[in-house]
Amino acid sequence: MTSARERKPSGNRTASHFDTDRAAPGAALSHAMGHPAGIKALDPAALEALVADLGQPRYRAGQLATWLYQRSAESFAEMTDLPAPLRAEFAEKIALPQPEIGERLESSDGARKYLVRFADGVSVETVGLPDGDRLTVCYSTQAGCAMGCAFCATGQAGFTRNLGPGEMVDQVRLTGGDFGARVTNAVAMGQGEPFANYEAVLGALRFLNAPKTELGIGARHLTVSTCGIVAGIRRLAEEPEQFTLAVSLHSAVQATRDRLMPGVRGIPLPQLRQALVDYVAETNRRPTLEYALIDGINDSDSEIGALAAFCRGLLVHVNLIPVNPVPGSGFVRSSSERARAFVRALAAQGTEASIRVERGADIDAACGQLKQRFSSADS
Ligand code: SAH
Ligand code: SF4
Repeated sequence: MTSARERKPSGNRTASHFDTDRAAPGAALSHAMGHPAGIKALDPAALEALVADLGQPRYRAGQLATWLYQRSAESFAEMTDLPAPLRAEFAEKIALPQPEIGERLESSDGARKYLVRFADGVSVETVGLPDGDRLTVCYSTQAGCAMGCAFCATGQAGFTRNLGPGEMVDQVRLTGGDFGARVTNAVAMGQGEPFANYEAVLGALRFLNAPKTELGIGARHLTVSTCGIVAGIRRLAEEPEQFTLAVSLHSAVQATRDRLMPGVRGIPLPQLRQALVDYVAETNRRPTLEYALIDGINDSDSEIGALAAFCRGLLVHVNLIPVNPVPGSGFVRSSSERARAFVRALAAQGTEASIRVERGADIDAACGQLKQRFSSADS
């Protein structure tokens, strides 16, 4: 059977502002010059636009990406297969900042959490989770987050700035380097709302997914987690690659969700559900729903009923995560009995659910969200 996905024309990239036939000449250069990430603010299409604007063939963009994200170049001067005048022009106009690992904490279970610091002093959290021959990196897409979720330390601290695609790839690259291992999976589940920075996130996914490269992570092993921004879910369904989608639901009762996730109050649950129905129909892929269990807030029998009704007839996998308590929130995780009641109710109607085992609990002091919350079924 041919899936909807396979019928799509391949190589039809839809996410970038920098498609060569749409972007104004010079747009890529001025974007890089105006962003703290410099050259790392550019996605693959923008790198192509940049070299095209300078009269260079398209393959130069691939050479640049290789230097930046595989060979970890620290200067344009060392990119010796690029023409010298081009290197000189880049060096004069565009920054090539190097993020570094500021802090590094290692859990007794092998997970490592880093504070990655960018050249402008902004830092984000990144986590590496080894598991047998798999290494999963959980990276941030924004410094901070504007969505203000009540249970999330990042949301409570507010928004600082968007990350460029290269700044996301750098987190993956640095983590792989620290483990001395190939990164097999990457999840956009660190700080930030990926769909509030859509183009940059898609750019990062494309660098990470680039075939026959050292990174070269399969699209299905690249997961994006959203608080439920419907426009982003619809756009992702249209992208040619088979990236994996996770949606943070946390309650299927509107009033509860509004309280927990004020940033998406304007997106009613039926609208979110419809976007998921359409996503599954369009892609034939099964999204994950994330549900942090909070004692007395979203774990009552009526919450179970609402979640079951939300999932009925929908192809999803539900991840139940005992909430990680954030100081000052007053939230406490539900008992394992309540978690099992959710699993039973969902199983009774054929919806797959699992209770996530926490990892790196002993190094999660500050953020309260970087946990293992992805299913080995996705990998
Ligand atoms: N902004 C995106 C992705 C980053 S958050 C999103 O919200 O999906 C990654 C995951 O951590 C989300 O599922 C989020 O709801 C969850 N999370 C945040 N704080 C948490 C906490 N204290 N306990 C458990 N999960 C938490
Ligand atoms: Fe932002 Fe996600 Fe945290 Fe909500 S849970 S505040 S969307 S990072």
